[in-house]
Amino acid sequence: MAELRVPPTPNNFHVWYKYSLGTSSDLKRSIDILIGNKRKFDVTTSHDLFATYIESQDADDAALNNVSQQLHSVMASAKQFLTVAIADNRSQIEAISDVADRSEAGVDPKLLVENLISELAKAAARATKLEKNFVEKTRELDTIRDSLNKSEERARTDTLTGLPNRRALDEFFRTAQIAAMEKGDPLSVLLIDIDHFKRFNDNFGHGVGDQVLRLMANVLRERVREIDLAARYGGEELIAVLPGAELATCETIAERIRRSISECRITRRSTDEILPSITVSIGVGQFQPGESMADLIERCDRALYLAKRTGRNRVVTENELDRELAAG
Ligand code: GH3
Ligand code: MG
Ligand code: MG
Repeated sequence: MAELRVPPTPNNFHVWYKYSLGTSSDLKRSIDILIGNKRKFDVTTSHDLFATYIESQDADDAALNNVSQQLHSVMASAKQFLTVAIADNRSQIEAISDVADRSEAGVDPKLLVENLISELAKAAARATKLEKNFVEKTRELDTIRDSLNKSEERARTDTLTGLPNRRALDEFFRTAQIAAMEKGDPLSVLLIDIDHFKRFNDNFGHGVGDQVLRLMANVLRERVREIDLAARYGGEELIAVLPGAELATCETIAERIRRSISECRITRRSTDEILPSITVSIGVGQFQPGESMADLIERCDRALYLAKRTGRNRVVTENELDRELAAG
């Protein structure tokens, strides 16, 4: 932490302790990318890391704990009423066989019928009670299932933008990668980074910056197809995975996204002031069968940085990297 000049705050210690444990591969990857890109661990970046990998994780753990407690209590009460029901049934069988014994012993048949009717009425009442209990428990289990689904959904969603997060991206890519290799279909990725976002945050505040990120997320969501995945890759970086798309198709879509964003007019909610337009740079790459997602994203990242170096507000594909390399 000292080497990277990370301020020694309790939250930062929490983040870096978890990093050193290596128990969260997402956190480790995020930090390694930041280090690789020589990013500063300033207040904003550190705050983002804490919010994404510690705070939200703690909330998920608490939710899961709560669900597991509820499940425990439903199981305990179901077990209890089943035990009672089994004991009741046993004593009922004994009572009926007692009636049968007495019928053999020549007891008044009218009395026997009365006894039998009364035993059957008790059995019916118990069955009704049991059914009511089962309905109640099923309802409780439904609620538990809903909250499990919700917490699974939360674990895959970025809280700021509502887009799928890194975990969801990894899963989606894994499936898309296998499908692409099996069918021999193309698969492309576009990586978006907001231009001069630090300056924008510094000038207008982090809250307005967050509003801009949400706006970018909405544009991206609207511009990709149903079968694509738009996700938040990192702090101010968004990503889209496009199954079935060649590099050129992906480039066209990236270009539309770039243009839409540059045409957005952003107003400050509190004052209605019109803010300077925001632009993005986009790096585009196509999956090569057998490579990892990290390799593909690394090429997109290099294309993205070429876009930054050559003026920003541009889309650059990996083909331009090859040309740049050939030109020396
Ligand atoms: P470039 O054009 O080279 O990309 O410049 P930049 O300023 O965008 O790049 P840099 O990597 O220096 O800064 C990224 C900024 O993104 C820093 C950080 O404040 C901001 N950022 C990252 N995540 C969030 C977030 O969740 N909300 C807000 N408001 N800002 C964020
Ligand atoms: Mg960036
Ligand atoms: Mg940026």
